[in-house]
Amino acid sequence: MSQDTNHTARLAGHALRNAHLRERALERARSAEPLSRLVVTIRDPALVSKYAFGTRTATFHICSRCGAVPLVTSEIAKHLYAVVNVNVLENVDPAWMRRGSANFEGEDIASRLARRKRNWIGDVRITETAVSSRATC
Ligand SMILES: [Zn+2]
Repeated sequence: MSQDTNHTARLAGHALRNAHLRERALERARSAEPLSRLVVTIRDPALVSKYAFGTRTATFHICSRCGAVPLVTSEIAKHLYAVVNVNVLENVDPAWMRRGSANFEGEDIASRLARRKRNWIGDVRITETAVSSRATC
């Protein structure tokens, strides 16, 4: 807050008004509901393997039949975040995607968790049913 105050001290007129509007919008965004929600139903938990790499900050949910990884979750401060691998989804038009490259090498754990809190889906519900009547994956 004081950093913004120092920054806005040099502004006047519309620029000052816009800076204040931006500051208020960011403040509202911090406490707002997440913009995305994910509901996952696992029909046969026995077919899902879970794996955590070195830092053990994320869990990869792997299909035991085909090896696909449709979901990765990360629990941060007792809150579950997730990302979905759209490459394994059916009927997704590639034109809907905006692809980019990313390199997380050298990222420390604090930065990694902050990035996930910022970018991953923040409202995640995973339910498991014991019924294994379907053979699709
Ligand atoms: Zn599968």
